[in-house]
Amino acid sequence: MIYHSTRDENLVISPSNAVIKGIADDGGLYMFADREAIKFDYRELMGKSTFHMASKIIGTLIDDFSKEEMDELVSLAYTGRFETDELTPVAEVGNKYVLELFRGPTSAFKDVALCMLPRLLTASCKKNNIKDEIVILTATSGDTGKAALSGFADVEGTSIIVFYPDNGVSAVQKAQMVTQKGKNVSVCAVRGNFDDAQTGVKNIFAKVSEDGLLDGKSIRLSSANSINIGRLAPQVVYYFKAYSDLICGGKINEGDEVNFCVPTGNFGDILAGYLAKLMGLPVGKLICASNANDVLTDFFATGEYNRVRPFKKTISPSMDILISSNLERMLYLASNCDCETVNKLMNELKVNGSYKVSADMKAVLDEAFAAGCCDDEQTKVTIKSVYDNHGYLCDTHTAVAFKVAEDYTAKTGDNRPMVVLSTASPFKFPASVADAIGLALCDDEFAIMQKLAEECSLNVPAGLKNLDTAEVLHIDVVDKDDMLQYVLDKVSENRE
Ligand SMILES: *Cc1c(COP(=O)(O)O)cnc(C)c1O
Repeated sequence: MIYHSTRDENLVISPSNAVIKGIADDGGLYMFADREAIKFDYRELMGKSTFHMASKIIGTLIDDFSKEEMDELVSLAYTGRFETDELTPVAEVGNKYVLELFRGPTSAFKDVALCMLPRLLTASCKKNNIKDEIVILTATSGDTGKAALSGFADVEGTSIIVFYPDNGVSAVQKAQMVTQKGKNVSVCAVRGNFDDAQTGVKNIFAKVSEDGLLDGKSIRLSSANSINIGRLAPQVVYYFKAYSDLICGGKINEGDEVNFCVPTGNFGDILAGYLAKLMGLPVGKLICASNANDVLTDFFATGEYNRVRPFKKTISPSMDILISSNLERMLYLASNCDCETVNKLMNELKVNGSYKVSADMKAVLDEAFAAGCCDDEQTKVTIKSVYDNHGYLCDTHTAVAFKVAEDYTAKTGDNRPMVVLSTASPFKFPASVADAIGLALCDDEFAIMQKLAEECSLNVPAGLKNLDTAEVLHIDVVDKDDMLQYVLDKVSENRE
């Protein structure tokens, strides 16, 4: 299959090279040109193991690997890493289904992609005869950093450096990162906020490439961010898995359409659902759920994307986002693969902070998507009502989607089965969840976690348990202007 930039169809690349490069030279994202090439009969996957589904689906989207090669990559990525080899179980909660994407090593849905990406990346290098060591650089506001560390730890041919804002992550998130084991991992706090860390990382990429700082060192910098097609492809799998579970459980018949409600930030998770639909899965509506940062809700209502609005900090922080990068891929698909249009819209976004899509594009979006949002208060009320009514404890991000799904059904009367995607364990955001169900709070997040477990008769996930007493392995702190030197030092240390 051929991929090219969403902004220029002449910038072509093979799928494995797209995984290595991440982003195209013109700032566009890599997408496939031929939507027919990814179609197959979904029925051949029903009732099969998740590993089997993953190999078929990822192998269809990134088709430079043989079936045997992809089987092995999937097995290396996931065996023994999740609570269950199903990877992503489905729970029945009232009249909805909750697709639990948080059963991986760091209790966040990003594990699904970030367990697989290192395998795809190293195999892609091998396939293309690239012998350089891959150094992953990531700035994190919390969740991505830990999932990336866990995914890349001790993966041959790679190393990873994660920067996090000194006082910008929760106690649990910090503990998760500074206790990360692995001989190829570095974790460093930056004196500043998330933007400082993120800008710092971007500057390192630019500086290293401009000044050739790593030339001749057989090292290649890369990022693990969510625009990489190697992160997107593994996320398509759980849509098929959920559908298969509903068939095998006798909840639906083959061919019935199912709706999916997705807590959305960068638009990666929900875009994977659209790819599942393109591949042939009977997907009904994809419902895009946002918190008080409702830029996407407005976009789907009006066709105008306008990021010029206040940024709000919420209790579902992984969805606090004003520019949803992966939406660019959806614009490409909705414009019937018209790179010129995408280029124009992205330029308007850059210059004016907004753009409006054509009526034709809006019609394509309306056919596939619905959208809604809810604020922190409604999020908490939802956590409590889902817990009181169904005995199911969900995290803040999942609660946003649950509420938006309920609103959608009430408003439209659409009674197709509804799957709500659950993107984090409630124990990852213990203070907000405990507060929502009325537990008394204290300053110690770990004590709250324990109390929550006792109150709800649940087990704290293995990766979050005993974090407060685990050995701290990373204590580095730098000023934002010293991040580049830190990276250069680490890279030469690793060589010795
Ligand atoms: C990253 C994240 C999201 C948003 O996913 P996108 O693919 O960026 O839309 C939602 N919930 C949680 C818990 C996350 O970590």
